[in-house]
Amino acid sequence: MGNKVALVTGGLGGIGSEISRKLSSNGYTVVATTFNKEIEKSDEWIVAQKKAGYDFLVEEADVTSFEACGEMVKRVEDTVGPVEILVNCAGITRDGFLKNMDESNWDAVLSTNLDGVFNMTKSVLDFMLSRQSGRIINISSVNGQRGQFGQTNYSAAKAGMHGFTMALAQEVARKGITVNSVSPGYIATNMVMAIDEEIRNDLVSQIPMQRMGKPTEIANTVGFLASDQADYITGANIPVNGGLFTSF
Ligand code: NDP
Repeated sequence: MGNKVALVTGGLGGIGSEISRKLSSNGYTVVATTFNKEIEKSDEWIVAQKKAGYDFLVEEADVTSFEACGEMVKRVEDTVGPVEILVNCAGITRDGFLKNMDESNWDAVLSTNLDGVFNMTKSVLDFMLSRQSGRIINISSVNGQRGQFGQTNYSAAKAGMHGFTMALAQEVARKGITVNSVSPGYIATNMVMAIDEEIRNDLVSQIPMQRMGKPTEIANTVGFLASDQADYITGANIPVNGGLFTSF
């Protein structure tokens, strides 16, 4: 394991696992975080990754809890090392037309996908500021850029991440910290495979490249943003969506 630490929330998930692998390959000690309290699941993941040649640490914290995030970050700083990279990748969907959406589905998505970014970023920021160095990478979504039928909650949260990214990037640009977001299109993970097959096929037919993205394609972008090659990039959003949504 390297001595620079990367913290990846949702690090055991479909995209998070590949981001963890990429950052590990790039020499970081990776702490992947989970909300799942079933120790066996984390252990299974650690063992599977080890078999594939990756050595990871796992920490548990609910990103919706400011207190839990603060305690977890402090624990990592004290026992593992300085957090150089934070990847905010934890996220959920609770889809439904607004007409039928109850408050709990709105709250769950906003608190996980948006408050979670505040809770984690605020927890690492003082440490990064004290070292005048850091990278914050927020995994947003194409649907935060363009909106999506049945996802008012998710689109609002993911669009909010862009606003957060642009504002914080300006606040910390002189402090050696960059803040960027990556907006995946449809990536073949459990989150997307849970969508009804007919709807999924229809979604793919709308993608100019006519296929879903791979988690590694998101991880490669994160790896780039985390590297020295991206020193001058901040406040940016990098779309990785097969042409599904284009803008400038
Ligand atoms: P997964 O469901 O595989 O991963 C999501 C992760 O979020 C899980 O590992 C889960 O952790 C974690 N998580 C959920 N709630 C909490 C919580 N309260 N506290 C801490 N962690 C939590 O989905 P993906 O890998 O597909 O998605 C990763 C990110 O990419 C998400 O932010 C998603 O919105 C975004 N994205 C995904 C796209 C896709 O097509 N797949 C497209 C665009 C964006 P655990 O289960 O370990 O507790």
